[in-house]
Amino acid sequence: MALCPSNTDCLDLIFQMLDQVMKLHPDVSEFHIGCDEVFHLGLCDKCMARMSQDSIGKDQLFFDHIKKVASYLRNKYPQLKTIIVWDDMFRCSHSSVVLASGLGGIVEPMVWNYQPQLQLAPGLWDNLACVFPSVWIASAFKGATGPSTMVTNINFHLDNHQAWSHLLISIRSKFKIVRGIALTGWQRYDHYAVLCELFPQGLPSLAVCLKFIQKDGSWERQREIAEVGKWELFVSNHDSRHCSQRLLVCLGPLAWQGLVGEGYYGWTEDSSSTWIPVCTFPGSDVYQLTIEFSHLHRACTELFNGDGISAWMNDFNVQRRFINPVHVETLYTRAESLMEHCRSLASRLEPAFVDVFVSGVTEEWRECFLTPLLSRLEQFLNKARTFVGD
Ligand SMILES: [Zn+2]
Repeated sequence: MALCPSNTDCLDLIFQMLDQVMKLHPDVSEFHIGCDEVFHLGLCDKCMARMSQDSIGKDQLFFDHIKKVASYLRNKYPQLKTIIVWDDMFRCSHSSVVLASGLGGIVEPMVWNYQPQLQLAPGLWDNLACVFPSVWIASAFKGATGPSTMVTNINFHLDNHQAWSHLLISIRSKFKIVRGIALTGWQRYDHYAVLCELFPQGLPSLAVCLKFIQKDGSWERQREIAEVGKWELFVSNHDSRHCSQRLLVCLGPLAWQGLVGEGYYGWTEDSSSTWIPVCTFPGSDVYQLTIEFSHLHRACTELFNGDGISAWMNDFNVQRRFINPVHVETLYTRAESLMEHCRSLASRLEPAFVDVFVSGVTEEWRECFLTPLLSRLEQFLNKARTFVGD
């Protein structure tokens, strides 16, 4: 899906959307207009004709569009002090082209990176500094570790904030001011993807990352950011990684490493752990339930991919009914126990979700994650049942 910058109807639509947001938030002084990851720009006939006629490239097409959107906001809402845009579409353009676009005095870029080791081109900051006196940065407190990740990996996101903190020391002299940081939290990777970490699942990570920002003296807008993170979350004055929470009211350790997926911080050092943090913050039922489901999912995966099924209940054996019931009984009992757990979790899903989410989220989460697991267990049990006691 792409929006055509050469179609005036598109601009009308955007202006209406901007007006709707401003109507709901009349007192804002900063407005983020997005504009990231515009992969399909300049592909339609209108845009191609315009680029050819005006001898301009895709980047100029894009900058012109931003200028129109930002100018609309500035003219109509003089109370807006800052219009922010994502920086990624500037990264491939020469600074002279950005400079010539006149965007320097109209918008401020927000540079995003969500990795524990920041992956940004070395010349990025100098190029931006040629055009923009001020810059923003963006981190992530959830998301960025996998499109179907369910449990937030707090360490991963804390390290992302730490990396930004270190980088700020070297870039702050290039700009008049580093204006602030946006802590992003992804709900899904795009409109067509399944839900990733739900907001209550990411709350402990948000608390820890805010606390890190609040305590770290290298942040430019420390006082303002501290105001954002003003919850008195932590009882102790230890560093963010080891402190306990008062508002989150969690007993014992949080799910620091995440629980699912492989990679940078994937499976924990103790992959057999079935620990579920005991918390009572608003939404903590969802936090706990999604962790519990991840443990259950892992246990089912171990059953389905394990030696038991592949050695004694593979399709070859099943089709020929050449099966030793003793082995099947063990697998059947295990699957029955997992099924019981799955049903118990299913019965607790709605009460936990209904307090936190609008309608539709419960159904989507159930059908994307819980139902497929239940179906697979049921299929296995139906198959195994015919052999038990044979
Ligand atoms: Zn177009």
